[in-house]
Amino acid sequence: MSAGVVVEGHTLSHDLEERCDVVVIGTGAGGATVATELAEAGLEVVMLEEGSYYKTEQFEPVASKMVRRLYRDAGASFAIGTPAVHFAEGRCVGGSTVINGGMSWRTPEKVLDRWRREEAVDRISAREMEPYFERVERRMHVARQDPESLGRDTELLAEGATALGYKVIPNLRNQLHCAGSNNCAFGCPTGAKRSTLVSYIPRALTFGARLYTEARVTRILHKRKRATGVEARVGVNGHSRRLTVHAKVVVVAGGAAQSPALMMRSGFKSPSGRLGRDLSLHPNGKVIAVFDENVEGWKGVHQGHQVREFQDEGFIMAVANIPPGVLAMTAPQYGRALGRLIDDYNRMVVAGVLVEDTAFGRVRVGPGGRPFLFYDLSDADAVRLKRGIGLLAEMLFAAGARRVILPFEGVPDLFSPDDVKRIFRDPIPKSAMELFTVHLMGTCRMGDDPTRAVTSSYGAVHDAAGLYVADASLFPSAIGVNPMETIMALATRTAEHIAENRRRLLA
Ligand SMILES: Cc1cc2nc3c(=O)[nH]c(=O)nc-3n(C[C@H](O)[C@H](O)[C@H](O)COP(=O)(O)OP(=O)(O)OC[C@H]3O[C@@H](n4cnc5c(N)ncnc54)[C@H](O)[C@@H]3O)c2cc1C
Ligand code: SF4
Repeated sequence: MSAGVVVEGHTLSHDLEERCDVVVIGTGAGGATVATELAEAGLEVVMLEEGSYYKTEQFEPVASKMVRRLYRDAGASFAIGTPAVHFAEGRCVGGSTVINGGMSWRTPEKVLDRWRREEAVDRISAREMEPYFERVERRMHVARQDPESLGRDTELLAEGATALGYKVIPNLRNQLHCAGSNNCAFGCPTGAKRSTLVSYIPRALTFGARLYTEARVTRILHKRKRATGVEARVGVNGHSRRLTVHAKVVVVAGGAAQSPALMMRSGFKSPSGRLGRDLSLHPNGKVIAVFDENVEGWKGVHQGHQVREFQDEGFIMAVANIPPGVLAMTAPQYGRALGRLIDDYNRMVVAGVLVEDTAFGRVRVGPGGRPFLFYDLSDADAVRLKRGIGLLAEMLFAAGARRVILPFEGVPDLFSPDDVKRIFRDPIPKSAMELFTVHLMGTCRMGDDPTRAVTSSYGAVHDAAGLYVADASLFPSAIGVNPMETIMALATRTAEHIAENRRRLLA
């Protein structure tokens, strides 16, 4: 075993060719996991990451700077449809795990059962997945928060939910003595959050993997239907070199938007016709509640609790503090009213509803080979979203809120629990709903029926050789809880499958 190297793209002075057993595209939840497991199993691994390499000491609570560094397109992307859904994904070493909230939940058993029954996914029961979940949880230290890291905003939502008799649970997060600095979305400045940047990737390097940063894979090389490597443009700000990596196995893990686009622009087609389809995205709606007390929502960990009372109906709730600049951009107020609202920033709780969606959208390739997302909220999901927002408003009033601002244009602010019925009095057009998401899923769905799925149950692309997918694209449906741990458990399973079949795959 020899320690691996990190080559930062902007330092590369000439075009380069590399050879390895496995090349992994992306270093987020799926990519870092599969790369680490394979390096540890003794395979020669090269990781390619489009984003730059930022270290813990470079993370600051300056949202405008950090979104430009760590987020794709500075976090300002939209799925086109009714309503347009704002989405964000990471683009840095560690991918979205560097900017995520750290919530770490196993896939609900009912979802795994459905995937087995309806989607022909092999060996996916909760019992069969248990060792993979356990391994991931150990590697990234999934645990309850230290109590002193919880903030007043999360306590208020828990108090309101409990007062109304609803089930609330403490969030499990991949952290070790998190300090509650609430900077998770802009990079954890203490290293407490065990993103792949500080957990899996250093381990992969220790086991000899090589990492190229600022390396955007432009296409997957193939001879007929056999993947033979990748070609990447490496560098930033106009500095660009070509890197060609010849590999026996190519693993695509660029996330549910980028992965299908890369496969499509490389000329791969799926006999199922599903490549790029079946996009789910857990649409989220948020409310802003103003209290009389000084909440100081920026103190304490991001999302200390989740309200799970309505999970069987298809939605969960939590608080999520948002920096004032971002909040001002998304609040329905303007002019002086917006100024007065922001004056109340210290007294605010921002809380959201996450819907386990039933609609499916699509990724298409646009100019420059970039993915464009199309998604329309279904009628049933719009109803659930309204119900979830109404319940959330009631919980926040039960906790003492004096005003609740809704994500529905044209519906006035609420000032008492009685006002909540306004949400249901008149129909709210979907175009008036302000929605966002950080959970893109689907687009290369797995399953053993090649007429319905893009990959096998283990991520091997049907009708191609030496090509795997190991990221959120694999999900055959939404899962209703935060997806990171599911992605990592599936990637662990995919790595095991590749390692077990190495004789055939590396021949
Ligand atoms: C703000 C935010 C908060 C979130 N909070 C939570 C949470 O609390 N809990 C949870 O479970 N989930 C959360 N998520 C979602 C979770 O982080 C993602 O679902 C998960 O990281 C997706 O894993 P992935 O491997 O599919 O892609 P990613 O983790 O996004 O990684 C993909 C990587 O591939 C790189 N890449 C893409 N295309 C190329 C290419 N062509 N060449 C080279 N590199 C490429 C990207 O730059 C990126 O680094 C959150 C996400 C965000 C954005
Ligand atoms: S709240 Fe915890 S995990 Fe999040 S940035 Fe602060 S120390 Fe890191």
